[in-house]
Amino acid sequence: MPIGEKIYVVGTGNDIKAIVKALGYATGSKIYTKRSGRNRISITGFHSNNSRFSEVQNRLSDLIQSSENFRIKFDSQNSALLGGGSYENHTVSLDPKLKMKKHNSFYYIHYEKRGGTNNLLDRVSRSIAGALLGTGSHHKRDEVLFNLWDTLTHELIGHGHDDYSGKLRKFESRDAAEWSAIRITNKVRKLRGKKNRDSLK
Ligand SMILES: [Zn+2]
Repeated sequence: MPIGEKIYVVGTGNDIKAIVKALGYATGSKIYTKRSGRNRISITGFHSNNSRFSEVQNRLSDLIQSSENFRIKFDSQNSALLGGGSYENHTVSLDPKLKMKKHNSFYYIHYEKRGGTNNLLDRVSRSIAGALLGTGSHHKRDEVLFNLWDTLTHELIGHGHDDYSGKLRKFESRDAAEWSAIRITNKVRKLRGKKNRDSLK
């Protein structure tokens, strides 16, 4: 892979190690890094361990070669209710709770389920509504597992790459933007033997 310095990880040594490891797991690759400052490393490239991850590897390659910088850090303030992370202004913020267990941290969200629909898009929008509105008479409580690696996939490989490619600004709704990130996340989850993040039942 070409050398670049476009993705930065900021944090303590252990935080950086956890994020780099999770990114390798999410992309089926060995990640190469270089120290680029105090509490900061740059991702300089990667080597594929698994060709089935080619779509996420191509996206990672785009981001590494991008003219923009992308920053990744643990941040309890900016990590959203959904999925333990957020993407904003080229910055991926990850919920520190995702550090709890290697590749296996989790917490709960609620999602709304009405009318017995099993339509995936409908369920996706319900998960957003449920998380924003909390529990209510029309909300069904369900457990969804979020891992550091799938949250990174969602925020960086999903939203981050959609930002890089210009798609993020063109989505007609928040749901459409979410669905795009959820699709690639579920693809990686499937490759790692996990169920879809938004349809556990
Ligand atoms: Zn999202």
